Amino acid sequence: MIEVETARERIRQFANELPAEDCPCFEALGRVLAEAIASDVDSPPHDKSIVDGYAVRTADLPGGEGELEIVEEIVAGSVPQRRVESGQASRIMTGAPLPDGADAVVMIERTQPRAVVGGLGRVQLRDVRLALGQNIVRRAANMRRGDVILSPRQTLRPVELGLLAEVGRERVRVFARPRVAVLSTGDELVPVASVPGPGQIRNSNEPMLLACVAQAGGVPVGLGTARDDREELRRAIDRGLESADVLVLSGGVSAGVLDLVPGVLQDAGVEQVFHKVRVKPGKPVWFGVRHGPPARLVFGLPGNPVSSLVCFRLFVELALALMSGRRATGLDLLPARLLAPFVQHGERPAYQPALVCREPNGLTATPLRTHGSSDQRGLSGANALAYFPAGERRFEAGETIGICFLD
Ligand code: AMP
Ligand code: MG
Repeated sequence: MIEVETARERIRQFANELPAEDCPCFEALGRVLAEAIASDVDSPPHDKSIVDGYAVRTADLPGGEGELEIVEEIVAGSVPQRRVESGQASRIMTGAPLPDGADAVVMIERTQPRAVVGGLGRVQLRDVRLALGQNIVRRAANMRRGDVILSPRQTLRPVELGLLAEVGRERVRVFARPRVAVLSTGDELVPVASVPGPGQIRNSNEPMLLACVAQAGGVPVGLGTARDDREELRRAIDRGLESADVLVLSGGVSAGVLDLVPGVLQDAGVEQVFHKVRVKPGKPVWFGVRHGPPARLVFGLPGNPVSSLVCFRLFVELALALMSGRRATGLDLLPARLLAPFVQHGERPAYQPALVCREPNGLTATPLRTHGSSDQRGLSGANALAYFPAGERRFEAGETIGICFLD
């Protein structure tokens, strides 16, 4: 039996990033950039006004006050035709280019137009805090043509997709998403649409694990159920190894008479890297590699839904992150204040489903009383896992513990 951190270290050794691929930007949300992006424009492309108002010469307005002749109206998308001379102003809209001669913009709220028959008329201005350059953003203040604005391994969020559009990119190079096949094993499993007979339960792990894959940025591939039968298992495992970068099995990795998964995986050429981790829940978790090319990673998760989910979070997610080009770090345990006592006993560290709230002075955690590893309903009330190190110990309300969020 190995420790969680050792297990994660072993996974790191085998989870290599996938090759980069070309992707339309509208499908790139959440993906990891595999190239450096340089700007092909200055932004803004011209000195521009950031308010609706009047482009003026500050020297014309001692104390911020004066009356000026309006010589032009400049809207966003147009180009100024007139230079602002002494005693003049141009009406200017947000985003429009600043006319030559002007050195500040007075916002419309601080002005009063004077109606005049013919022409654009005159405007009375009063802006006591008038300052040189006010309400103007200079050309290329945000970025200069040729500047590198995004680097490889940045995750693309909505703002980065906007930035890519600003510099003319409709497609980007991103790391490929790992294809992850999910195979549920067990004689007791029936499809979701069936009514379970005596001794049977529905296969709830498949939709849960497929959703975990999708949430972790992988491409989920459902393989359905295999009975606890060597031949049937072998056929399903071979299909998974053929079609996906990662194969995730649930069930059949403990010490029962029908826990055939580790043996059949090894028959299928998957070399065991570890079996059993000192963790609660999830002790029987199995990990192996089918050496390539193409290499495949295989996880055997315990069948109980809570164990499956915790092991996915602790182990599979790490592999998917690394394969997707992310710089995955540690488990990211965040400090949280316990709101209820928790009694920890045994030689395995526990990752207990918990409800974590953001309070003004930090996170709080309430460990949930579930009915063990099959209690998916209890788990549904949790948004995090609370970490309790191995040993006999009562953790009191008010103590600080580590938590990791589930989503
Ligand atoms: P196993 O890991 O095969 O020993 O299974 C442990 C427990 O998890 C058993 O009670 C199984 O019935 C349950 N289980 C296994 N596979 C699934 C599944 N796909 N969906 C829901 N429960 C499962
Ligand atoms: Mg089983």
